[in-house]
Amino acid sequence: MKFLFDLDGTVTSVETLPVISEHFGCTEQILELTAKTVQGNVPFVESFIRRVNILGDYSVNEISDLLAKVPLYDNIAKFIDDHKEDCIIVTGNLTCWCEGLFKKIGCKCYGSEAECVNDKVIKLKSILRKEQIVEQYKSLGETVVFIGDGNNDLEAMRQANVSIAVGLTHNPAQSLMSICDYIIFNENALVRQLRQLCGEFGNSKSVVISCAGIGSRLGLGLTKALVQINGGSLISWQLKLFRDVEDLRLVIGFQASEIIEEVRRFRDDIIFCYNHRYFETKTGASYFLGARHANRETLEWDGDLLVHPDDVRMILATPGEFICYGDKSSEDTVFVHTNEHGEVTSFSRESGDFEWTGPACMDKKHLMYCSQNVFNMFEPLCPLRGIKVRAYDIDTYNDYVRVAEITKDWKI
Ligand SMILES: [Mg+2]
Repeated sequence: MKFLFDLDGTVTSVETLPVISEHFGCTEQILELTAKTVQGNVPFVESFIRRVNILGDYSVNEISDLLAKVPLYDNIAKFIDDHKEDCIIVTGNLTCWCEGLFKKIGCKCYGSEAECVNDKVIKLKSILRKEQIVEQYKSLGETVVFIGDGNNDLEAMRQANVSIAVGLTHNPAQSLMSICDYIIFNENALVRQLRQLCGEFGNSKSVVISCAGIGSRLGLGLTKALVQINGGSLISWQLKLFRDVEDLRLVIGFQASEIIEEVRRFRDDIIFCYNHRYFETKTGASYFLGARHANRETLEWDGDLLVHPDDVRMILATPGEFICYGDKSSEDTVFVHTNEHGEVTSFSRESGDFEWTGPACMDKKHLMYCSQNVFNMFEPLCPLRGIKVRAYDIDTYNDYVRVAEITKDWKI
C-alpha cells in the first residue's frame, strides 16, 4: 500500500505560495489566484503558470530556504516518518522551490520541474499531473491511498483505490465530495485512519453510524440524522451517547454537507465515510463502507435508532460478536427467531420472537459487501449471540411520534 499526499494544506499547515509572496511583498495577486484555484474556479495549470510568472524572478535558493521553515502537521509528519518507504508527496509546486521542504519531510517527493539559471526560474518544463503518479504506483500492483484537499487533487483521487479528502487548513474543494471515500477534518482522526489502513488497529470498537439514506418512509423530506427530536437533531443525540468512543464513523450520502455541518458543531474528529450509491443501496452497503477500514470490531448502528443510555454503555463494554434485538415496537418490523440460548437463528418479515433493531457488533473477517439490509449480511452467519436491548427504530412518522414520547425523559 502506498500513501500519496498532496503537500499544501495537507502536510504543511499553511499554503506555501502565500508564504513566498508575503516574503517578497506581492501578496495580493497570489492570494487571489490561490483562493480561486483551490476552489476550482481557475484551472490549476493556468493558475500555476501565472504564479510561476509572478514569482520566477525571485531567488530559487531563498525560496527553498523559506519553504523549509513552513510548519508541518506534526502527527502527519510523524506518520510519514514512521512509514517512509510507503509515503510519497505529490505536489504541483516546483521541485526547485521545495528542495528544503522535501528534505525535511524525508520521503519520496514529486513536483513540477523548471529550468533555473543564475538562481532564477527561466522556464517551466513540466507540470505534475498527480493522477500520473497514482497510475504509476497502481501499475506496479500497489493499492494507492490518496490524501488531498484541492481541486487539483480531483483526478488523482478518482484514480486512487482509496481517497481521503481533508479539511485541515481549509475546507476541501467541493468537487472532491462527489468522489472521495472519506472526508476528515481533524489531524488525529486522519492519522488514525491512515494507521488503520496500515493494519495498525486501535483496541477499542469502532462505531459506524449509517446516516446515508433519504428517509423516504418517514416523509419529513430530511435524512433522518437531521430530524429534530426532543430539542435536538437525532444525530446530536447519537453523538452524546457515543461521546467516549474514539473511532466514531458516520456514513453519509443524502444531505451529506448538512450532516457534516451539524456534526461539527459538536465534534471534529469524526471520520465521515461516503456511500455515494445511497439511493440504490441499503444499510448493508453503508455498514460495509463505514467499517472496512475501521478497527477489528465494529459496532453497526443505524442512524435512526435510539437505544436506552444504560444499554448503550452495556453494548460498548461487551466484547465479541453479537446482535441486538428488542420487543416489537416499530410499524415496519423485521423479526428474529431465537433459540433456547438466546441466540438469533434467523430473520423474518412475517413472524418471530423479537424485533430486529440492531445494533450489531462484528469482526472484520465477517464483513462483506452487501447492497441490501444489514441483516441480509448477517443471515449466513447465524446462529449469532443475541442481546436484548431497549431499542427504538424510527422508520415511519408514527414511529417518530412514539419514540419522541418514550425517550423524552432519558438522561443522556
Ligand atoms: Mg492542498
